[in-house]
Amino acid sequence: MTAEHRRPSASPSPTRGTGRTPDPLTDQPLRERLATPYELSIDCVRSRLTVLSGPSGVGKGSVVAVLRDQYPDIWLSVSVTTRRPRPGEIDGVHYHFVDRAMFEELVRAGELLEWAEYAGNLYGTPRGPVMRRLAQGLPALLEIDLQGARQVRAAMPDALLVFLAPPSWEELKRRLIGRGTEDPETIRRRLELAREELDAEPEFDHTIVNHSVQQATEELVRLIGSSARTPVIPSRHRG
Ligand code: 5GP
Repeated sequence: MTAEHRRPSASPSPTRGTGRTPDPLTDQPLRERLATPYELSIDCVRSRLTVLSGPSGVGKGSVVAVLRDQYPDIWLSVSVTTRRPRPGEIDGVHYHFVDRAMFEELVRAGELLEWAEYAGNLYGTPRGPVMRRLAQGLPALLEIDLQGARQVRAAMPDALLVFLAPPSWEELKRRLIGRGTEDPETIRRRLELAREELDAEPEFDHTIVNHSVQQATEELVRLIGSSARTPVIPSRHRG
């Protein structure tokens, strides 16, 4: 599961023939946009990272939707996934939707901060955008599954790990089954995983019980605010 950390060269492509300055967000191919541009010491960037995790169906997606809507200044990592888009999901906004070959290339190149297989699909956090953000001394938020949260804990022990818990198991089951977007086999696998994931709560720094999406979001926003600690300086700028 641990990716090999080889740094590929990642210079931006010029916008050929247009005579304008390239826009790194739109002009570069995905592979280059996700790349880590230079070596950053983990030590200098880790203290502003918040990780939101918890069982499938607990409402992480809803919390993130409220965040996007009401707190657009909170920077949220866009994961790479091999899952197919659901109706309404936009490539590059909700996920970078890629095929397995591209995902595996990102893993081989060490471009994923963490990654996991979840219910038959691969999900991962592109390292470059998160590191660039943290190197500027700005907070970053990941919304990932438990396996990913554990990998972040191992790589960045100072990250703030937040567990989003359901008010009860029955409520979680109702939400998982009620979503209506998945087939019965997927729901069965997700319930099984959700039970395991609930047991992991003590591994987290903080638990938010999702009584309402609004309340849970506001608690998370407060935690992200409190995770912004001392200023950080990228190691390449140290004397
Ligand atoms: P969904 O398919 O419902 O969007 O997400 C399924 C699960 O994958 C959720 O628990 C979600 O938090 C998790 N997930 C989304 N992105 C990532 C990621 O980059 N890494 C990991 N490890 N899990 C992710």
